[in-house]
Amino acid sequence: MNTPTWAVELDHVTKEFRGSVAVRDISLKIADGEFFSLLGPSGCGKTTLLRMIAGFENPSSGDIYIEGVLMGETPANRRDVNTVFQSYALFPHMSVAENVAFGLHMKNINKADIATRVKQALDMVQLGTFGDRRPKQLSGGQQQRVALARALINEPEVLLLDEPLAALDLKLRKEMQLELKSIQQRLGITFIFVTHDQEEALTMSDRIAVMELGKVLQVGQPTEIYERPKTRFVADFIGECNFIDGTVLAVENGAVTLETDGGVRVVGTGMFPVAAGDHAVLAVRPEKVRLVEGQQPQGTNVFAAIVERVAYIGSDTRIIVRLPDGSPFDVWEANTVSTLDPNQYYTAGDPVYVTWATQNSLILE
Ligand code: ATP
Repeated sequence: MNTPTWAVELDHVTKEFRGSVAVRDISLKIADGEFFSLLGPSGCGKTTLLRMIAGFENPSSGDIYIEGVLMGETPANRRDVNTVFQSYALFPHMSVAENVAFGLHMKNINKADIATRVKQALDMVQLGTFGDRRPKQLSGGQQQRVALARALINEPEVLLLDEPLAALDLKLRKEMQLELKSIQQRLGITFIFVTHDQEEALTMSDRIAVMELGKVLQVGQPTEIYERPKTRFVADFIGECNFIDGTVLAVENGAVTLETDGGVRVVGTGMFPVAAGDHAVLAVRPEKVRLVEGQQPQGTNVFAAIVERVAYIGSDTRIIVRLPDGSPFDVWEANTVSTLDPNQYYTAGDPVYVTWATQNSLILE
């Protein structure tokens, strides 16, 4: 039986810079044609990991394989990867077409073939008619697409992208996210995409690795990472989350009951083996919480609270309430029905009940 070949495989990769560890014992397997994101806060080691795959840095220990071949100290220009950086670094004195063709000139390919491939690459990023312009005659988004065409023209097996959309404004960034994803799907190239923007990673990726302090904390599909975060850090970094600390009272059929210091009991789905007496935390996303006015709802996971702030943001209304112990709690209500009646919204000082279904909350260590 053939062992499967991975586009990129990292085997216990560590990188130290003068005694400080930037990447700590990371093992990952990235499949051919996968859109894989490295996501984490500034300084967690994403760029260092990408630079080691590209061959700009060597690991202090561990091995990197590209398409099943051990890279060792193979230099960057001999690896079947290309990198697109945040600063697109186009040559200002060259036309768009010359910028895109640059890598091919270095490879001694004949002129007619170069012209055909430049045209194809520019068409792919929807800049087919822009070949004669200079980079400074283009918008930021167009310049980034030229950088992408310049990388894609080499037909690499793996494209490494280091925060390529970070310099663009929000609207353009969202357009480019969809465009990048569709180019990647059309070409079937493996993309490894570095970002610190969780929404960007959720929108584009087949799988995401969430990193903190040089380590990978969790790898999974976007829905897994969002719905089943394994740690408090992951739950907090991916989207918004409410946390309630408590002591485990009981564990029954995967449901864990916690008691807070204030004596309130809450129940969530157990994600870790915990036992009575352990300290644990319940995590629940703001869109999975309901507010109830008037009579106290029956059942578990009910807190009396006071509305503190209400923000209408169009698609939903975000309400911050205060629990009896003084801690804030976020609740998002989707505005699914169109109405201009301001009385439907809560106002500061309103007494309410906060409640959620057990299966919508997780118990984490
Ligand atoms: P950002 O999102 O801010 O780019 P990052 O997650 O990409 O952050 P890295 O740039 O990989 O993080 O940096 C990881 C750690 O390694 C940081 O603490 C950084 O200061 C350190 N580091 C990176 N490159 C070097 C270097 N050449 N020499 C010394 N330390 C370095």
